[in-house]
Amino acid sequence: MVTDFSAERHRLIEFLRREIRDQRVLAAMGRVPRELFVGSSQWPSAYDDRPLPIGHGQTISQPLMVAIMTEALDLEGPEKVLEVGTGSGYQAAILAELARRVITVERIADLVRKAEEALGRLGYTNIEVHPAGATLGWPAEAPYDAILVSAGAPRVPQVLVDQLAVGGRLVIPVGSRYEQNLVRVVKRERDTMMEDLGPCRWVPLIGEGAWSEQDA
Ligand code: SAH
Repeated sequence: MVTDFSAERHRLIEFLRREIRDQRVLAAMGRVPRELFVGSSQWPSAYDDRPLPIGHGQTISQPLMVAIMTEALDLEGPEKVLEVGTGSGYQAAILAELARRVITVERIADLVRKAEEALGRLGYTNIEVHPAGATLGWPAEAPYDAILVSAGAPRVPQVLVDQLAVGGRLVIPVGSRYEQNLVRVVKRERDTMMEDLGPCRWVPLIGEGAWSEQDA
């Protein structure tokens, strides 16, 4: 089986270049080996622009979505970033390439363990993976300069807006269980500004302020 994926990775980046302007995001995605975040049975598809199964009914996100969401966070380097929904850990790795510190939370214990393993193997020292607690997000380290939610919610959860610093950006898929729109929220001194970045499809965000396990 082929284990050198550099040509496939390069092709994916060339494809993303048509949609993504931010060169830093493209460079970051060119550095992170997506194949290490999926099982070897998925390797032939590791650089397809689509989500792939990672077990427990969950998926590693579609590369174009990772790029669009990362670009929408406007990261410049010094930020502390929260990701909700670690999954495979791939999105966390991309964030860690572009920000100072990444805190990521995941509700499925087996995925926490696997993501930690993959990120550890790649040598990241600026990512902390936590098992999700009772409150959505990770309030203990708030406020965050940026928050990326890797799962779909019925509305923008106020508890996450509360964990955002003034000037901070939150990107989250919002809509029904089966289709959502990507929403970018910017927190300002007195209010928040919301922007629609277009349609998308995500697995459900589960918890208070999102979907119940039964809905999902
Ligand atoms: N960003 C991931 C893809 C995540 S899939 C990647 O790059 O691979 C969405 C993940 O969100 C799933 O693993 C799911 O278990 C998790 N999730 C759903 N609700 C959650 C919550 N309330 N807190 C933390 N994780 C949650």
